[in-house]
Amino acid sequence: MKNYILALDQGTTSSRALIFDKSGSICAQAHKEVRQHFPNPGWVEHEPNEIWSSQVSVAAEAMSKINITGKNLAGIGITNQRETTIVWDIHTGEPVYNAIVWQDRRTATYCDELKSRQLSEMIRHKTGLVIDAYFSGPKIKWILDYVPGARKLAENGCLAFGTVDSWLVWKLTGGRTHVTDMSNASRTMLFNIHNLCWDDELLEIMGIPSSMMPRLASSSEIYDHTKTAFFGSEVPISGIAGDQQAALFGQMCLEEGMVKNTYGTGCFMLMNTGGKPVISENKLLTTIAWQIGGETTYALEGSIFMAGAVIQWLRDGLGIIKSAAEVEELAEKVPDNGNLYFVPAFTGMGAPYWDQYARGMMIGVGRETTTAHIARAALEGIAFQTMDVLKVMELDAQIKIRELRVDGGASTNNLLMQIQADLLEIPVVRPKITETTALGAALLSGLATGFWTSISDLLQQWQINKRFDPQQDPAIAVQMKSLWADAVKRAGGWIKE
Ligand code: ADP
Repeated sequence: MKNYILALDQGTTSSRALIFDKSGSICAQAHKEVRQHFPNPGWVEHEPNEIWSSQVSVAAEAMSKINITGKNLAGIGITNQRETTIVWDIHTGEPVYNAIVWQDRRTATYCDELKSRQLSEMIRHKTGLVIDAYFSGPKIKWILDYVPGARKLAENGCLAFGTVDSWLVWKLTGGRTHVTDMSNASRTMLFNIHNLCWDDELLEIMGIPSSMMPRLASSSEIYDHTKTAFFGSEVPISGIAGDQQAALFGQMCLEEGMVKNTYGTGCFMLMNTGGKPVISENKLLTTIAWQIGGETTYALEGSIFMAGAVIQWLRDGLGIIKSAAEVEELAEKVPDNGNLYFVPAFTGMGAPYWDQYARGMMIGVGRETTTAHIARAALEGIAFQTMDVLKVMELDAQIKIRELRVDGGASTNNLLMQIQADLLEIPVVRPKITETTALGAALLSGLATGFWTSISDLLQQWQINKRFDPQQDPAIAVQMKSLWADAVKRAGGWIKE
């Protein structure tokens, strides 16, 4: 019986496999760390063959935990670290260079050059992206420019480019299928989000032969089947989405105006904006959320650099807590922030302030200030930054957010979630399954194979763990927001070049 869906969640720090049953419950999981390589300052690489071998081995491990084989799988869904770039030889199947990870900054100078050629507006309108070294296009160009012989091979049609999803499908099908889904394509800076195709002008600007590019597909369809060697039988590969988009889907944010926020090291917020791309006036990114059955759904995306990382700093830098979870107990020792405001601009500030010269600041320190106030102000700093991004999302999309769905490590913090609800003055909702990324990939896969029959079928999989309703007097929130805005101003422009 084909009772399960296998989700492959290939992340930046680890490869994970999760097996879901028809009720959407997790039946087994396994994970393995992926080694990080830092060959030069600002460079981050992974080994493509390790990405592959770790991913198949965790899949086998998860399956063996519940004693199933490929015959029991109705489909495989893939979700992945986005933008990470792999180029391989289609004849040998060997990568010509390591995977250049999204965090890698080696192409920053080239991106500055693109900006100085006045290409920002054109690229923003075509791709929905702000020119940045994150995205795949400049990374492909780097490989063609710097790996000996690569450009010649590419021009002869011998090289393939893929983000991690493409690479995994290529390996799973024994080199038969070279494909990507549109959510991943929309992170390459080579994809036109309006025409839904690779953009010839951008390929030309970056000197990338179009023969390298994967076939474009939807996020939920049978792309191909796995080679029998891997799971003992042919299993349909039937869902693909980049990790943040998969999480939006796994959070069942299926309607226009629905938003999820992932509270990890940083925060990733995505808003479903429906069938039309919204080009941001506030440097948020416009991206494809997914394409299903010929219908394309778009999203606005904003991120903040420092969220859970602030709590790590309280633990490792200040030493005022022993574990991240302890921050809640400490912050609860005081009824409010005692007028202490903490702007966590450790590395500058992203959306919507965009100030790389801002630095972290605590203001309002008095003799009465305790570590409990610092803990509370740190949690509030995370919630305030989230609020600021959501406010510009509402402005850009002209949509009022009605609730916020949350996941990620720091979303387990009940106090943080309550503060968030009080500041936003809308409910904050935490689902039972916080593995939303893997769940999203599983749902996309199961939808394509008939394992789940309809979107309304899927909605029943999503259950609430806890809902945080606003409780605080809104007048207090008004005052706090004004003090926060003032604090952000004072932290700005601190570093002088
Ligand atoms: P990532 O995927 O970015 O590594 P995770 O989703 O695993 O992040 O979340 C880890 C982050 O969440 C860490 O930065 C940690 O400090 C923070 N965190 C974990 N538990 C709590 C908690 N109870 N309260 C606040 N922050 C927490």
